[in-house]
Amino acid sequence: MENKKCIYCGSPQYEERRTDYLYSYKGNYLLVPNTPVEICLNCGMVYFDAKVLKEIERRFFAIQKKTEKPDSYVELPQVAFA
Ligand SMILES: [Zn+2]
Repeated sequence: MENKKCIYCGSPQYEERRTDYLYSYKGNYLLVPNTPVEICLNCGMVYFDAKVLKEIERRFFAIQKKTEKPDSYVELPQVAFA
């Protein structure tokens, strides 16, 4: 995220970190460990790389359609809609 500023506070200072990202879509969840994120050092706002999000989404739907098996990804039990 070079030459970019935090859209929240305007700070140009970021730190790269890894986190467990929980993707959710229509009551289904996919936990993606070690997701690279960038965190604004000033306000703590968390930014995800668009490429990373796209890949998570692609994996999510592939797993949903059973075309791919989760490996390092952890599929959480479906949460029932009330
Ligand atoms: Zn910020």
